[in-house]
Amino acid sequence: MKIGIKRTIEGKGAGVGCIGETMTASWEEPINTGGVPNGGSEFDVIVVGGGPAGSSAASFAAMKGYKVLLLEKAVYPRDKTCGDAVGGSSMRIVTELGVRPMIEETPLFRVDSIIFSGPGDNTEVRINLPPDQVKDRTAGYSLPRLQFDYMMFKRATELVLENGGSIIQDFAVKEVHIEGEGDSQIITGVSGTVGGRKSGNDVSTFSAPVIVGAGGFNCPVAKAVTETCHDEKMRDDDHYIAAYREYWEMDSGSDTGPIEIHFLGGKLCNGYFWIFPVNDKIVNVGCGLLISDMHKMDTKLRELQAWVINEHPKFKDRFANSKMVGGSDKGHLIPCGSPRKNAPSYQPRRFAMANAACVGDAASWVDPFSGEGMHQALLSGKVLAEYMKGESGCVVFTKEAAHEYQLDMWGRLGPVLTNSLKLQKLVRRKWLLNLLLKKAARDNKRGKAIRNQLELACSTKSGQEDMASTWQMMKMVFF
Ligand SMILES: Cc1cc2nc3c(=O)[nH]c(=O)nc-3n(C[C@H](O)[C@H](O)[C@H](O)COP(=O)(O)OP(=O)(O)OC[C@H]3O[C@@H](n4cnc5c(N)ncnc54)[C@H](O)[C@@H]3O)c2cc1C
Repeated sequence: MKIGIKRTIEGKGAGVGCIGETMTASWEEPINTGGVPNGGSEFDVIVVGGGPAGSSAASFAAMKGYKVLLLEKAVYPRDKTCGDAVGGSSMRIVTELGVRPMIEETPLFRVDSIIFSGPGDNTEVRINLPPDQVKDRTAGYSLPRLQFDYMMFKRATELVLENGGSIIQDFAVKEVHIEGEGDSQIITGVSGTVGGRKSGNDVSTFSAPVIVGAGGFNCPVAKAVTETCHDEKMRDDDHYIAAYREYWEMDSGSDTGPIEIHFLGGKLCNGYFWIFPVNDKIVNVGCGLLISDMHKMDTKLRELQAWVINEHPKFKDRFANSKMVGGSDKGHLIPCGSPRKNAPSYQPRRFAMANAACVGDAASWVDPFSGEGMHQALLSGKVLAEYMKGESGCVVFTKEAAHEYQLDMWGRLGPVLTNSLKLQKLVRRKWLLNLLLKKAARDNKRGKAIRNQLELACSTKSGQEDMASTWQMMKMVFF
């Protein structure tokens, strides 16, 4: 069975920067990205990586009139290991880029609530998302990244080509060029090969005044910005999650309903297990654990997931008559945006310098509690474009702009990420989590009040901030 149901879709583009022509896409068809530019061609901005963050950065830079070169290692359509949930906050940027009509024409699962459970008994708490947001389709979806990323990349391709830029797929950046010494270092360009992963192909080098790292958790530009140029750590195992995903055939009976997050304890220890339907026939099932916790356990995520599915009393019957979609079993790392203790420069870690900046996972922005990274990926691509100054042909991204960009992003995301770290720590205290879930599940005034508070936490930024305040937590659990 295929994950995405093949269908050709047509949607009318809408919103800022959308030219308004009919966009057509089938996420199983190749995307025509045009000719490959000669090495040495001039660009204003080079974006390394064409996932959601890179597509967003390339689209917003192109909408400012810049000539963009977008380099992507894979060839679309391509899968990306993920839980596939796209939250309400992502939808605003997706709408702004004119991609939402295309998405809504594809098979997807509309999320109306989130079910949580803890390691104790069978207590489950269902937190409803605001019904008006579910109704007007702004609460969020889950749909395979095969579909979502395809549509984002296709839109970026249109915008980049319209503004005189180029896109190369199957181009893996292998080398990042750095000039200068000490404080005056700048990143000037990148090299790689067309036919990227195959060795022996001709190396092409491209230079530009702005280099954007959007290559995910192992982005070569992020490595250059952190380790090579500033001797700062890129990966921190206390803030990176190892995650594993499979798709299973399972009838959800509807294309609207809950996604589920379970903190099961047992063999999964401090990890979490999720079930996110992506349409009415397929569910995305996965688990994740901090890498530092993983190191302490003598087991693999694949085995932990098999334990949940085959042996856990709560799930084994549910999966007994289902089948895994062949080839969908994949692992990946999640770089979280939780604040680092004694960070040497910026939070969550350095992600920009003169002439270069990172977005999305390359900047380590994933929420350590919810695992959401799509919103931060899209947002950072948008915000970064605001810090590129000058006309096409003389664009600049100065050291001062890099400083401001890093402070701005942490100002926007830091409070929620800081609170999410507290929540991540809270669910490690199993007795507290059990107590909270038990109280929230009760069919009385107190239970309803806690569920309301959790609803706000799931749908608003201020609700999330309140929820994580220690006092609020104590009030919920003990009073
Ligand atoms: C198992 C799992 C579950 C998750 N669940 C959710 C969820 O449900 N909701 C949510 O919001 N977030 C989730 N996340 C996080 C989310 O997947 C990421 O935050 C998001 O993909 C970040 O987008 P990105 O564009 O920064 O990076 P990516 O999506 O990783 O894209 C990076 C792109 O760069 C390309 N690339 C890499 N290296 C190079 C190179 N050297 N040269 C050229 N191109 C390169 C890659 O091919 C890729 O296309 C999950 C992550 C994992 C691993």
